[in-house]
Amino acid sequence: MELGYYDGQFRDINEKVIPIDERGHQFGDGVYEFIRVYKGTPLALSQHLDRLERSAKALLIELPFSRTDLEKIIEEGIQKSTLEEADIYMQVTRGISPRNHLFPDTKAELSMTIRHPRQMPDEAYEKGISTLLLEDERWANCYIKSLNLLPNILAKQAAASKGCKEAILVKDGYITEGSSSNVFVIKDQILYTTPATKQILCGITRTNVLACAKEEGIQVREQHMTIDFIKQADEAFVTSTSIGILPIARIDEQHLSSTRPIIDKLTNAYQIFREQQVHIQS
Ligand code: PMP
Repeated sequence: MELGYYDGQFRDINEKVIPIDERGHQFGDGVYEFIRVYKGTPLALSQHLDRLERSAKALLIELPFSRTDLEKIIEEGIQKSTLEEADIYMQVTRGISPRNHLFPDTKAELSMTIRHPRQMPDEAYEKGISTLLLEDERWANCYIKSLNLLPNILAKQAAASKGCKEAILVKDGYITEGSSSNVFVIKDQILYTTPATKQILCGITRTNVLACAKEEGIQVREQHMTIDFIKQADEAFVTSTSIGILPIARIDEQHLSSTRPIIDKLTNAYQIFREQQVHIQS
């Protein structure tokens, strides 16, 4: 059963619960996390909660629950939902207070949804996806997983309107990341990805895929990449918690090779990593 959570209680997923003065609603004044549950276990939970803490701290939001309590709430939600495979979104906002830009004295609010997972069709992994290069119009602090996603939404929509599954964002001539993913390129057996500066969200999948690559003996370079560089890739892919490793078949009009030896190797390694993690955590 899909579930919602707000104001300290699990609720029917369709219940309307957000008060009009909720700052998440009024200002997008908050942070979020997305966690994927496999076999009843939230993958890489501690990495996600670490990032939630970092994001909240960067926005001077005090989390309304301790780490242990957050873990308990997530665990309770998974059990109540009885979903073995699930998508969990958590939002922490600066709370509820009559509209005023200044921080209120109120306590931060946690909301959460636990739903059946959204899944990319197998075909997308086999064939790879089409992507569109677009100007990165976001702010200077993209390392914060903030609720403000307007430029990301607009970019994803613009990509979709051209039949593309992801927008690859470009700032000052260099690739930053996808609208909801991190970008990787393989050239001459070396794996490249944009360095985790303030200009990108340092994806949990990015971190874990880089670790898998190193385990596999693949040389890794965190380096800024130009448009020409990515278009001349031997292989390229995007990563995120929901999609894992998703090959790129096309960037604008440029088609990439459909043979992907390193992506295949990494996909295998990441699958094993995921199963091990779930086993260790459960
Ligand atoms: N960058 C952006 C902008 C994202 O929205 C996401 C997905 N939330 C990612 C990267 C990938 O992050 P993760 O691997 O932690 O899901």
